[in-house]
Amino acid sequence: MKAVLAPGATIGILGGGQLGRMLSLAASRLGLDCHIYCPDAGSPAARVSRYETLGAYDDLDAIKRFAGACDVVTYEFENIPAGTAAQASKYAELAPGARALEVAQDRLTEKTFLRDKAGVKVVEFSDVATVFDAKRAARRVGYPVILKTRRFGYDGKGQAKVDSEAEMDAAFASMNGAPVIMEAFAPFKREVSIVAARNHSGEFAAYPLIENEHRNHILHKSIAPASGDDGAAAQMAKRIMDGLDYVGVMATEFFQMDDGALVVNEIAPRVHNSGHWTQDGGCTDQFEQHIRAIAGWPLGNAMPKRNVVMTNLIGRDAANWEKLATFPNSRLHMYGKSEMRDGRKMGHVNTIGDAL
Ligand code: AMP
Repeated sequence: MKAVLAPGATIGILGGGQLGRMLSLAASRLGLDCHIYCPDAGSPAARVSRYETLGAYDDLDAIKRFAGACDVVTYEFENIPAGTAAQASKYAELAPGARALEVAQDRLTEKTFLRDKAGVKVVEFSDVATVFDAKRAARRVGYPVILKTRRFGYDGKGQAKVDSEAEMDAAFASMNGAPVIMEAFAPFKREVSIVAARNHSGEFAAYPLIENEHRNHILHKSIAPASGDDGAAAQMAKRIMDGLDYVGVMATEFFQMDDGALVVNEIAPRVHNSGHWTQDGGCTDQFEQHIRAIAGWPLGNAMPKRNVVMTNLIGRDAANWEKLATFPNSRLHMYGKSEMRDGRKMGHVNTIGDAL
C-alpha cells in the first residue's frame, strides 16, 4: 500500500512547459508544493511553483539532488532520457514508472505492446530498416502508407505519407537515417481520444470520449464529450494502463473508422492537451486527477456536468486575449509565455456549453 502524501509534501515535475504549470496550479490547490526541473530559466511551470532546479535532462548529479528533495517525481513530456528516469527513481518514486516512458518513447515498442500485450487494435505496422524493407512491407499492406521515425516524433514531425512506390525512395531518405516504422494508412472518419487515470490500488477513472480536430498537425479543438461514446475506448485505456501498472493520468488517441471501430494510434503517458476541457467541465480536472493518483489519494470524480469545447491559442491567436476575456461562456487559460512564436501553444479557451 502506497503512503498517501499529505498537504505540504513536494511533487517533482520533469519539464517546465504548460502541462507542468497546470499540474503545479492543481497541486497547490491541494496544499502540495511543486519542484520544477527544467533547463530554461523562467519556464511557464517554474513561474507558478515553489521550487525550481535548472539543469540539463542528462545531468545526473542535478537529477539526484532534485529527486532527493521530492516525495514523488512525475514528468510532463515523454522524451525523458532512460538514464534520467532511472536516476530519478533511485531517489524518489517515479510515477508513471519507467516502463510507461519506455513504451511511449518508441513507436515500434509502443505498437508491439499495444497489439500483443494490451490486446487492442492498432494499424498494421512493420519495422523497416531499409528502403527495400519499406517497399516490400508497403506492397503487402497496399498504398498509401506512412513512414514515421520511431522516436522523437510529435505534431506530425518525423513522418511522411507515401502514396505510391515511386515516392518511397524520397520519403525514406527524408527520415535522415533515423530508425523508422511503416504504418498502413487508416482511412478514419474522425480522431478521438480518452483521458483516464489509475492509482496505486488499481482504481481507474476515465473521462468521456473526446473528439479532436487538428490544424497543420497541431490540435486545434477538442469537443467534449464526443458523440457515440459506448465505453469501448475506456475499456481499452484500462487494459493498457493495467498492462503498464500505470499510476497517473494517461491519454490514448484513436482513429475511429466508418463502422465505429476504434484503432489506437498512440498513448501519451501524461496529462494531455485533449484533456484541458476538464478544467471547466464541472468534474475533477485532469491535472488534479494526475496529482491525486501520484500522491496516493483517491481519484476524483471524472463525470463532467456540461459540454465544453476547448480551442487552442496557437502563436498569434493569443494576441486576441483581451477580446476572448470578454466572452461570458468562455474561460481563458494563458501559459505565461512571453514570445508568441508560430506554432507555439500560448494558451487555450474553454467554451462552456449546455448541462449534460
Ligand atoms: P501521430 O504523430 O502518430 O499522432 O500522427 C499525427 C497525425 O497524423 C494523426 O493525428 C493523424 O491525423 C495522422 N496519422 C498518423 N498516423 C496515421 C495513419 N496510420 N493513418 C492515417 N493517418 C495517420
